[in-house]
Amino acid sequence: MSERFIYCEDREAYSTARVRALEALLIKKGVITERTVDTVLEFFETKMGPFNGAKIVARAWVDPAFRERLLADTPKAIAELDLPDGMAGAEGEHMRAVANTPGVHNLIICTLCSCYPWPVLGLPPYWYKDPTFRSRAAREPRAVLDEFGLPLAKNIKIKVWDSSAQIRWFVVPERPEGTDAMWEGELEALVTPEAMMGVAVSKAT
Ligand code: FE
Repeated sequence: MSERFIYCEDREAYSTARVRALEALLIKKGVITERTVDTVLEFFETKMGPFNGAKIVARAWVDPAFRERLLADTPKAIAELDLPDGMAGAEGEHMRAVANTPGVHNLIICTLCSCYPWPVLGLPPYWYKDPTFRSRAAREPRAVLDEFGLPLAKNIKIKVWDSSAQIRWFVVPERPEGTDAMWEGELEALVTPEAMMGVAVSKAT
């Protein structure tokens, strides 16, 4: 591993302190209020998050025609569903869904920074922004997925999609076997953000 990707051990504490200091400074200067950061976080905890993505995927699992429309024109298909206002807003522009099949597994990354479809997946996890993850996932996705606990058979093709401000990708995982009797709401619970990023698959339990 290149040395530039080695972090100090107290990275989390350091980042936290830096964010607190920045927030305090912005409040002091009157750029934001004491509520601003909490309001934004609350919005992405309650309105825009992986629960929206789970609804979209579950609908695609039960409705093949919707799945087709979702893959053909993602924002238009998403607009059909009863989801919160703002799905096409900040970080939700130009979303594109790609579907896993028995022979193809999709993985989303952002090699440049951390572009991510916030309205369907929420805020990106810290490792998504990690330079080591970003470069290795592009270079050796099979090895990286294996380390994530997702060993894929050699005959399964891996497609890596690089998100940007122009296109923000998310994955429609395969519907797990043994879920034929489940209704849409139950299926939603099987769709994790990791599965919609492609670092995991959806499982029946
Ligand atoms: Fe980015």
